[in-house]
Amino acid sequence: MTVIAPNAIDRSALLPASLRDDFPILSEHVAGGHPLIFLDNAASTQRPRQVIDAVSGVYERTYANVHRGIHTLSELSTEQYEHARQKVQAFINAEHFHEIIFTSGTTDSINTVARSWGDANLRPGDEVLLTVMEHHSNLVPWQQAAARTGAVLKHVPITDDGRLDMEAFDQLLTKRTKFVAVTEVSNTLGTINPIAEIVAKAHAAGALVLVDAAQSAPHLPTDVRALDVDFLAFSGHKMLGPSGVGVLYGKEALLDAMPPFLGGGSMINEVKLDRFTSAALPAKFEAGTPPIVPAIGMSAAIDYLEQVGLAAIHRHERELTRYAYEALSQIEGLRILGPSPEYRTGLVSFSFDRIHAHEFAQVLNDQFGVAVRAGHHCTQPLHTLLGITASTRASFYLYNTPEEVDRLIEGVVAVQEMFAPKGRHRKRRKPDE
Ligand code: PMP
Repeated sequence: MTVIAPNAIDRSALLPASLRDDFPILSEHVAGGHPLIFLDNAASTQRPRQVIDAVSGVYERTYANVHRGIHTLSELSTEQYEHARQKVQAFINAEHFHEIIFTSGTTDSINTVARSWGDANLRPGDEVLLTVMEHHSNLVPWQQAAARTGAVLKHVPITDDGRLDMEAFDQLLTKRTKFVAVTEVSNTLGTINPIAEIVAKAHAAGALVLVDAAQSAPHLPTDVRALDVDFLAFSGHKMLGPSGVGVLYGKEALLDAMPPFLGGGSMINEVKLDRFTSAALPAKFEAGTPPIVPAIGMSAAIDYLEQVGLAAIHRHERELTRYAYEALSQIEGLRILGPSPEYRTGLVSFSFDRIHAHEFAQVLNDQFGVAVRAGHHCTQPLHTLLGITASTRASFYLYNTPEEVDRLIEGVVAVQEMFAPKGRHRKRRKPDE
């Protein structure tokens, strides 16, 4: 088998492999005995013992519903839940704790803004500026809002190397633009977008900005005040926390002026049979029983990330990504999606003309124990633009190692030799076969 020798790894940029010991699942074996190599972190990450213990500790000792009870456990749970809110506030440097709304995830956060802010503010002919690299979560809610309000959607294209076309952005941003919704990091291309520049230009044009931070908050330091973003959305499960919790950050004045999205318990001040008044922030946007335990788990995940350091995590992932990128670029016929490593975070997606992404993922799992993603990664329009229906994505996090990247490369070469040996052209699969 061909062995690819990428440029040597700079070990001084890497985190100590000993932190893997904090993640019990990483010692699992899969597919008949291969040690698990988990490279599907952009979909969801794994949890360290510290987060697992925080979650089970609540269930074992302090769990009750929050805000409503006068009894000890309700007070304890409320304290822990509100402490988690403060933890998130500090993590993204928000000015007020009540600017942090716990949601079920990024999707829920974006839908809340599209429904609440969108329905109250968008008028026929107003424009919402998105990009072609958005996840479906930052496309569909705006399509729905446009259908309800008559607003018009515009999309910033990408350059040939998979970065946002900022010249096109400048042209598409006009007085009609009321709202810009953009991802900080593309979950398919890995591209890091110039958020500060986007926000400054959008504000100068009189538009508000929502940043989809699902793929950035877990990997890069986030400072909502330095960036001056109006709304920011991210998910706990992509940053070592539990699933079922996410965050919507919004500037106080904007959230105050917005009508509540979901109605029910907790979000009210007073209810009559025919009307209600809303609670103050943040309860106004947290109808029903909130994600109590996931939020407390997310707080423990933030502790963990901060202890390791976001800047160190970013450095580690960049080095692994460069290593993987350089090795993959030596494989004939393999197309890497997105820009060169200096413009991206820790993921690499690729396609191969004659091999379907599912075949890569299947063989990598079954014969190498490597977990990767195959499909359109919820960016169907982007894949269509790139002229493909699916790609294979390897995404890294703080616990991945260069040896795991070596195994990935070994697996990719094996798949290539298995399905598309040099000189023999397999019949091309139909897109959705
Ligand atoms: N935006 C981006 C860029 C994502 O990668 C994802 C998750 N794949 C989402 C939004 C949606 O996140 P969630 O499923 O946690 O709501």
